[in-house]
Amino acid sequence: MDTCIVCDIVSGKIPAYKVFENKYALAFLDINPASEGHVLVIPKEHGATLSDISEKNVKETMGAVQTVARAVEKATGAAGYNILQSNNTVAGQTVFHVHFHIIPRTEGDGLSFGWKPGKLEKEAGKTLQAKLKRALQ
Ligand code: 5GP
Ligand code: ZN
Repeated sequence: MDTCIVCDIVSGKIPAYKVFENKYALAFLDINPASEGHVLVIPKEHGATLSDISEKNVKETMGAVQTVARAVEKATGAAGYNILQSNNTVAGQTVFHVHFHIIPRTEGDGLSFGWKPGKLEKEAGKTLQAKLKRALQ
């Protein structure tokens, strides 16, 4: 594996404003925050995408996301928050160690994570449902 900045933060090789840590997960402030209190929550186990890490680490990291999100609400007084998690370049991922963004939201903050809603047609829905069910077997 090439060097990974997140693994370097876990090991303490590079500094970060750490806010939460347990055996499986770590949370620290994003260096280029979208809003005040923007935190990244990561599994300590290295994996580039969500698909690459163990179920145990996914569960533990998601638990940490909830714990830290509650603290972010309390500490910042944000009215809400978004959880954002990107996988692979096509989805906008720039740091290739799984991370969940917690982005506090306030009224009129101007942030947008929108998309243009499509329409799920009946036949396409049936085909996709069957494909996904097969993939899940
Ligand atoms: P992505 O675009 O992969 O979903 O998000 C990567 C995030 O990591 C960005 O929001 C970026 O600001 C943050 N980031 C990149 N390098 C560092 C760093 O060295 N330290 C910290 N704390 N955050 C970083
Ligand atoms: Zn890593």
